[in-house]
Amino acid sequence: MPDISTHDNSDERRKAMIRDQILARGVRDESVLNAMRAIPRERFVAAEYAREAYTDRPLPIGHGQTISQPYIVAFMTELLGIEKSNNVLEIGSGTGYQTAVLASLAAKVHSIERLEILSRRASENLNRLGLSNVSFAVGDGTLGSPEHAPFDRIMVTAGAPQVPASLSDQLAEGGIMVLPVGKSSEQTILRIVRKNGQIHQSHTIPCRFVKLIGRDAWEE
Ligand code: SAH
Repeated sequence: MPDISTHDNSDERRKAMIRDQILARGVRDESVLNAMRAIPRERFVAAEYAREAYTDRPLPIGHGQTISQPYIVAFMTELLGIEKSNNVLEIGSGTGYQTAVLASLAAKVHSIERLEILSRRASENLNRLGLSNVSFAVGDGTLGSPEHAPFDRIMVTAGAPQVPASLSDQLAEGGIMVLPVGKSSEQTILRIVRKNGQIHQSHTIPCRFVKLIGRDAWEE
């Protein structure tokens, strides 16, 4: 007799992911850990990758794009220091997994994705989980979203050659932006804070994201 309990052990695998990949590497923000404990990551990847949903690496999501390694999601979300009242802008919806983490922590999330098919799927993924405080738009996220600005927090989940000027402009006073900046082959995750009208920048860990493609980023 096959053991049916091993057929869907996603809760166990998710717990192990939090313990071995995220807590073990020093992420301690309980609200981030709880959000990631609750969100079923396997539902954001194609069926053929569902078994690998909790492995310690990015996974293909089609169209040459990837869903980030779980640790990177945790690290960047912790760095953003989201408060419950925050208005958040996300660039690069992808599968919507990172969007779901942000939406669990903030008041409102505006998520921009340049590929329509991914945006549509991300929106479906969030609807299925009952997360309704998110608006999805298709377009070039390097221009931000002037109609919903200013933003308390901005997260970019594709690698930029420099900090897009529109995004720093749309950051609220006291706001924080987290984004990977560098070469197309490797970037550093930057944390940017607007304080007394001035932009302060700090460098954190190296990373490898797909390219941010747009007017104020890489060409296609
Ligand atoms: N955070 C996502 C993964 C993002 S992959 C997840 O959790 O699944 C990076 C995404 O950024 C890709 O879907 C890519 O199409 C998108 N992207 C690249 N350049 C963009 C731009 N200028 N504006 C909006 N989205 C962009």
